[in-house]
Amino acid sequence: MSHFYRDTWVEVSLNNIYENVSKMREYLDDSTRIIAVVKANAYGHGDLGVARVAIEAGASLLAVAFLDEALSLRRGGITEPILVLGVTRPEDAVICAEQNLSVTVFHEEWLKQVKDLQIEKPLKIHVKYDTGMNRLGTTSLDELHCIIKIIEKHPSFSLEGLFTHFATADELETDYFDQQFLRFQEAVNSVVQKTANIPIIHCGNSATGLRFPEKLFNAVRMGISMYGLSPSMEMQHLLPFELKQAFSLHSKISHVKKIKAGESVSYGATYTSEQEEWIATVPVGYADGWLRRLSNQEVLVNGKRTQIVGRICMDQFMIRLPEKMDIGTRVTLIGEQGMERISIDEVAEEMDTINYEIPCMISYRVPRIHMKNGKIEHVINPIIQNM
Ligand SMILES: *Cc1c(COP(=O)(O)O)cnc(C)c1O
Repeated sequence: MSHFYRDTWVEVSLNNIYENVSKMREYLDDSTRIIAVVKANAYGHGDLGVARVAIEAGASLLAVAFLDEALSLRRGGITEPILVLGVTRPEDAVICAEQNLSVTVFHEEWLKQVKDLQIEKPLKIHVKYDTGMNRLGTTSLDELHCIIKIIEKHPSFSLEGLFTHFATADELETDYFDQQFLRFQEAVNSVVQKTANIPIIHCGNSATGLRFPEKLFNAVRMGISMYGLSPSMEMQHLLPFELKQAFSLHSKISHVKKIKAGESVSYGATYTSEQEEWIATVPVGYADGWLRRLSNQEVLVNGKRTQIVGRICMDQFMIRLPEKMDIGTRVTLIGEQGMERISIDEVAEEMDTINYEIPCMISYRVPRIHMKNGKIEHVINPIIQNM
């Protein structure tokens, strides 16, 4: 358990994450596994706590983007299977096998390089087939067959999965999705005919899982929806159950003063008051991920919306108060106060981006407080973790 000495923090509701995963668990067939995607520090939520609660709620595997992220989970005591979705260097296959980490493979050449390494336990492999995302995977059915043949023949390898990834599963228009699905289905059919057993076949992200639960084969890679966010605005009305946002961002007023009409605030003096007003300083800035582009975003204080005034600085910004308030008054940048709510979707819209980006952009400087049943379960504060 680490501490934090800063009046700016992220609260993560582990109960909401638990609920989102449980709802998905109930919604899908019992035979469909949930792979909880906890890459990028669990989309900025804090990987270990999220991984544990996802597993409690019914996920049976975890997925990350690269090897270091998987090792961080192992170091934290996670023993469940972990799939590395991105590319792993051939020479790192040894540590993957040692740590029981599954790798993504889609080149014969990669297998040839790894075949000659000294691997104690068999290396678990998910083969990636590219059906139209054009990011990772082989697009050749011949190569797919070759890869699988090599894996099956060689005792250092164990074929655990076959997968693809959709480019447009969150869009209402389904032509491209249908085309990708068909391609994958053909590949699966032709591979399964010749292959004894592939335990896990998966193609779906959250959007696919929520919209087409019958198109998942036997696993779903659940990312954004686990955090209570819709994969896109256009499919928000298609959600089969309520998703509960888990992430909120808070701070406390650090300074309050009255300024006169005609005085300016912050760098560049871009904001000038028209009358006497109360201005408060909030200790959050662009180095925390609250980017300068958010200078027109509202925040909540005493249950009301109020405006950021002037430019956002590296560590602080200023707000206009509706009345005089005390130092230490809570400011909510993302989350709820009374009847008011600022959602991640709202901040994403203000920044002209997608909700995925928002919790990811809140930097390591902001401690993550994991809450369970109204109590602090764990504090993640990388700045002073070794103190
Ligand atoms: C990140 C990722 C996911 C998760 O997608 P969501 O839309 O967040 O559910 C699934 N599969 C792959 C390959 C990914 O990289």
